[in-house]
Amino acid sequence: MSEEKEITLRNYFDFLAKDKLMGSKCKKCGEVFVPPKKICNKCQSTELEWIEFSGKGTLATYSLIHVGARYFSAQGYRMGKPYCFGVIKLEEGPRVSAHVVGPSKEWEFDPANFKVGMPLKKKIIKVEIEGREPSFDLGFEPV
Ligand SMILES: [Zn+2]
Repeated sequence: MSEEKEITLRNYFDFLAKDKLMGSKCKKCGEVFVPPKKICNKCQSTELEWIEFSGKGTLATYSLIHVGARYFSAQGYRMGKPYCFGVIKLEEGPRVSAHVVGPSKEWEFDPANFKVGMPLKKKIIKVEIEGREPSFDLGFEPV
């Protein structure tokens, strides 16, 4: 799949807002990147194109964060009620870090629910911070 839009982070986030996880693929060596890169890390080619990722992957590693940024505190995460920040291995290969959410906060607060290797799918998270325009960020949830 190719898109006419320039490969920029701005466009990456615009795609997220439309529930699309887009990365870039090197036309020369086939390496894929997400978030997208304009220059290939592997062969230094500048010929990259957009590709859409399925949004499916597995939890490669994670941290449960008890003391986080104000944005997370405002959502009820705190000491004893941590949020999960994980590294997700996408089925297309690359790894991406993101907030991993559960079906409910209570589910998220039980550390036994998070397991390395568990299947996840993308869940675009609407980020609402007082005094700012809402934005969208990449998150994941259990399949
Ligand atoms: Zn390359």
